[in-house]
Amino acid sequence: MKNVDNEIHLSGTPISDGVAIGRLYLISQDEQPLIPEFSIEKDQVDKEISRYRNALSSSREDLIQLQGFLSDEGTGEASSIIDTHIQMLEDPFITTFIEKKIRSQLQNTESVFRSVMGEYEKKFVTRGDQYFQQRLIDVKDLSCRILKHLYPTNEGTQHIPFHAVLCAKEFVPSHTAEACVSKVSAFLSEIGGATSHAALIARSKGIPFVANLNYVKLKKHEGSLIIIDGTSGKVIVNPSGETLKKFQQIKDGILEDYEQLIQELEDEPFEQADLGVKLFANVANISDIDSANSCRAQGIGLFRTEFLFLQDNLFEISEEEQFEIYLQVINKASDLPVTFRFFDFGSDKGLYGSDYPEEPNPALGCRATRFLLKEKVVFERQVRALLRASQYGKMKLMFPLIMDLEEFNLAKNFVLNVMGQLLAEGKTVDRSIPIGCMIEVPSAALTSDLLAGASDFFSIGTNDLLQYTLAVDRANPIVTDLYYPAHPSILRLIRLIVDNAKAKGKEVYVCGEMASSPLFVEMLLGLGIRKLSCAPRHIPWTRNMLRKIDLEDAREFATHLLSLSSTEMIEEAIKKRHEELTSV
Ligand code: PEP
Ligand code: MG
Repeated sequence: MKNVDNEIHLSGTPISDGVAIGRLYLISQDEQPLIPEFSIEKDQVDKEISRYRNALSSSREDLIQLQGFLSDEGTGEASSIIDTHIQMLEDPFITTFIEKKIRSQLQNTESVFRSVMGEYEKKFVTRGDQYFQQRLIDVKDLSCRILKHLYPTNEGTQHIPFHAVLCAKEFVPSHTAEACVSKVSAFLSEIGGATSHAALIARSKGIPFVANLNYVKLKKHEGSLIIIDGTSGKVIVNPSGETLKKFQQIKDGILEDYEQLIQELEDEPFEQADLGVKLFANVANISDIDSANSCRAQGIGLFRTEFLFLQDNLFEISEEEQFEIYLQVINKASDLPVTFRFFDFGSDKGLYGSDYPEEPNPALGCRATRFLLKEKVVFERQVRALLRASQYGKMKLMFPLIMDLEEFNLAKNFVLNVMGQLLAEGKTVDRSIPIGCMIEVPSAALTSDLLAGASDFFSIGTNDLLQYTLAVDRANPIVTDLYYPAHPSILRLIRLIVDNAKAKGKEVYVCGEMASSPLFVEMLLGLGIRKLSCAPRHIPWTRNMLRKIDLEDAREFATHLLSLSSTEMIEEAIKKRHEELTSV
């Protein structure tokens, strides 16, 4: 913590970008509300159970209302998380089990509910992996909601003043989902990784979020004016007039620039013909396709299919259920091509609803394509559903986290065999559907010459490529400062992948977060990338950068960056260059 006059400067982990100014408002989760505990007579049981059922149905109504509001806002990812909570309300554990307990324990509903949920939460705590930690947050979130209906108190987000900067030890998804952009300026928390549900919601709404801050220290400043820079992770409490003015200008500038940009770009032909660059959208559900369309993406470069089935047991996702959804995606995308990524289950994305054995190191364990090759029933259902949908639109398929040519061939042959079966059954499929692979691990990058012979295209997943090349967990806030996109090894690997793909006439997409940062656009172009895929919200900024870039200069710039020996030197050169380009 650094004090400048009265200003207090803090530094946290940036989770969702943008600048916000507001008053600090704390959401207390330290103490559980005191609830009454008493015994009931047998003849009171029915009344207690009916109170419980009412609380469940009111919780359901809240969630449905919240979901409607989220889809109006166009935050589809958030809406699918709330969908998970609605499904959880129907779980027999929440319905019949608790009712049985009320009958057998002869205690009032809230005390039975709290003690059963407490036991249930303990089970999740013992599972150390990220996925179970996220589910624990979902369970806590839902049980608080039910409890509030059983025993209403004044807590909740309704009383939050306008322009509040909400601070909590840890945010649950409903906090971020219920917050509307017009009321909540930003989120600050002590715990929270970049891939938590609360983070996904904040990002999809465009609300700045900084995590990894000390809650107890912030608590002392409740009500103070505070500035949040969600891009750098800087937080300033009690800013001076001068600091305030500076950040207000940055904030206004970002907003004005965005609005002006959207207007300017509206009338421009989309394709930067002279550069030959195409911009695609990364999406995770059907409603995101609307955002991709409104940002005029030229296709869906990455459809993260696993996000479509967040609430299901992955072993029970049927072919038919998938086929219906993929068809909706294709229809909604209309003429736009869609690249579906096969399920990327495991590691930080979890193995939904399954009792899959816990692994000592899930990031290096049975995830993504490895998992699919092991669990052929799950794989086959998805392949059949996707191939059946392929006749209705322009589709591409790709495998996540491919390790090498052998693994790619195994996976691709599996798809071709399923295609043969479908044809034998008399079904129509797109026989020439392109099948590509993501390059996300160094072994694939280093053997991309071999892979390029077999794969129809490459898509570089820079989020994982960084994680595995630098050995830095992408979701761990403690090592975020070591997660360097501008590391010399990353630049070299990208160049190698592009050269190997080019030699075999194959296209290379970049679909990791790197593609969404205007800072890296020129460098990626200079390294030979012509297809970028990022979250729809970032597309206008990338398009804007493209207007300022000359390909010859970009090539020279990339060659210069490749000659530098440290991340610091590369970062500095990129920042300087970005300033030059954007000041024109
Ligand atoms: C990546 O790793 O860069 C990527 C796009 O995939 P995901 O973030 O879904 O792992
Ligand atoms: Mg990945």
